[in-house]
Amino acid sequence: MPAPRSRPPPHVAGDYKVIDHEYDAVVVGAGGAGLRAAFGLAEGGHRVACITKLFPTRSHTVAAQGGVNAALGNMTEDDWRWHMYDTVKGSDWLGDQDAIHYMCKEAPNTVIELEHYGVPFSRTPEGKIYQRAFGGQSLNFGKGSQAYRCCAVADRTGHAILHTLYGQAVKHNTKFFIEYFALDLIMDDSGACIGVIAMNMEDGSLHRFRANNTVLATGGYGRAYFSCTSAHTCTGDGGGMVTRAGLPLQDQEFVQFHPTGIYRAGCLITEGSRGEGGYLTNSLGERFMERYAPTAKDLASRDVVSRAMTIEIREGRGVGPNKDHIHLNLHHLPKELLAERLPGISETAAIFAGVDVTKEPIPVLPTVHYNMGGIPTNYHGQVINNKDGKDTVVPGLYAAGEAACVSVHGANRLGANSLLDIVVFGRACALHIRDNHKPGEALSPLPDTAGEASIANLDHLRFKEGTLSTAEIRGNMQRTMQLDAGVFRTQETLAEGCERMDEINTTLKDVYIKDKGVVWNTDLIETLELQNLMLNAVQTIYAARERKESRGAHAREDFPERDDANWIKHTLSYTCPTTGKTKIWYRDVTKTTLDEEECKPVPPVKRVY
Ligand SMILES: Cc1cc2nc3c(=O)[nH]c(=O)nc-3n(C[C@H](O)[C@H](O)[C@H](O)COP(=O)(O)OP(=O)(O)OC[C@H]3O[C@@H](n4cnc5c(N)ncnc54)[C@H](O)[C@@H]3O)c2cc1C
Repeated sequence: MPAPRSRPPPHVAGDYKVIDHEYDAVVVGAGGAGLRAAFGLAEGGHRVACITKLFPTRSHTVAAQGGVNAALGNMTEDDWRWHMYDTVKGSDWLGDQDAIHYMCKEAPNTVIELEHYGVPFSRTPEGKIYQRAFGGQSLNFGKGSQAYRCCAVADRTGHAILHTLYGQAVKHNTKFFIEYFALDLIMDDSGACIGVIAMNMEDGSLHRFRANNTVLATGGYGRAYFSCTSAHTCTGDGGGMVTRAGLPLQDQEFVQFHPTGIYRAGCLITEGSRGEGGYLTNSLGERFMERYAPTAKDLASRDVVSRAMTIEIREGRGVGPNKDHIHLNLHHLPKELLAERLPGISETAAIFAGVDVTKEPIPVLPTVHYNMGGIPTNYHGQVINNKDGKDTVVPGLYAAGEAACVSVHGANRLGANSLLDIVVFGRACALHIRDNHKPGEALSPLPDTAGEASIANLDHLRFKEGTLSTAEIRGNMQRTMQLDAGVFRTQETLAEGCERMDEINTTLKDVYIKDKGVVWNTDLIETLELQNLMLNAVQTIYAARERKESRGAHAREDFPERDDANWIKHTLSYTCPTTGKTKIWYRDVTKTTLDEEECKPVPPVKRVY
């Protein structure tokens, strides 16, 4: 074992400056979900603090390309019940049908509201909002043809939505704490959430935010994997905070691989490129999706396309000198269409793959893209705890967006349903808090120990001895997750993966941080993020090991069939931050809609495209 890199300087834990704040509500995160929740509260007269580690418009929502689903019926006749059917089917019957009902019904108004806020949607010749074809979308309860339901701003929809929502937040005087890193929830003795503790990354000062309601909108944890389309900042901090508060996460085994990440770079090429007529080919030049999904072909659901590509590569029909990727063809499409509808990905392909999309195919590979799992909530956004098989609401705690598991995406999210989810459920959190609390209500007192454990952790990390860099441990975690919890899974790789992840988790105690300061200490922040990623990753691979069936994005080679008799249930998981021990248990899926007269539940059938 190499010698420790240096002796820690003498240190006193009481050195930290702590500043207290009081608000009616705190929102952690300023992506689409966080902003929509924050200004929804501000609009209702609530004093709200929005804490964000990034400048709001740098949140990962900015990178969303393809669009946002809503049954507006601008291109063909459409109905939100058809959208609901597709979403339940897309979820492989693991989604909660009350939440899916709520989201799909709200979708048309949500998109119109976005338009009124100023989102510059692409237009049809008659001036209506343009809607493109997207994967897994059909007409007439799956009996009709491809639906055109995805409302797009060229291929920069997330950029337009995020900037517009930020404008609304500023308009409503939302109080931002920008480049503040939320460390932990503050819980009281009764198990209610009464605020958060955060660090101002600019000067290292610590801030305790006291509030009756806290909304977690911290995004996904794509960075638990080696190759992913999400930003380096997608580190599952909300999931980490919830775990440290002793609460479970849900359905972590469901990790979406997007079929078209650029080979090697991992950057996303939107599904909208196939929606506009692009198609995949193997080394024989064959449009292989016709074999796997005879009807939907290249626009089958993402899990289906990712598996088909992986099989093609495994069977030796991959392209390139190592036969290890697939071609996405757009060069048959008119140049004007590429320039008007897909300008962003044309540029991305040129920069990251050196490809001129008007002339040659783009090299692509399935890449981690989205986390269906997360913090369990009901459709109001209230966080759910579950003890002894009984659901309870955690008082004062909400979650929305990719950090949450409502669950509208179940085992597999349909493209363009996440931008919808973040806006609909960000708003739902604000509405529920407004309905149940008045601005200026008395706040619970902070326990004397509030935030102590977080400060102790920070201090320990800064001054401890150790032999491993944050990057080394993170790399080990990412490679293990990529290898052992990938597109296809078996008991053997998962069991090995669990053991390896447990070991890697324990190496966190050997981490060594070079920078001892508190001003912009990226070494420290990345280590805090790694602690969060690790808790998410361990729960992901354990949940995957236990689920002995194939459903949605969870494809088991040893259990290739979906098993509805035993497995229509949500996985709950908890990893103890001190012992590293992981526990798995289950809770029911909601199979009923909000109003059966308005729309009937969708009963499970075989999922084919
Ligand atoms: C490349 C790409 C393209 C996509 N395209 C589409 C698409 O076309 N359509 C679609 O529907 N979906 C798409 N998705 C998915 C969708 O964009 C995301 O799921 C969604 O935008 C997530 O929004 P969010 O508000 O939950 O989180 P994010 O936008 O990720 O925001 C998270 C926020 O939390 C803050 N935060 C996190 N941790 C902390 C902390 N510890 N302290 C303080 N603040 C913190 C961050 O500062 C940030 O403001 C895409 C995703 C990617 C990666």
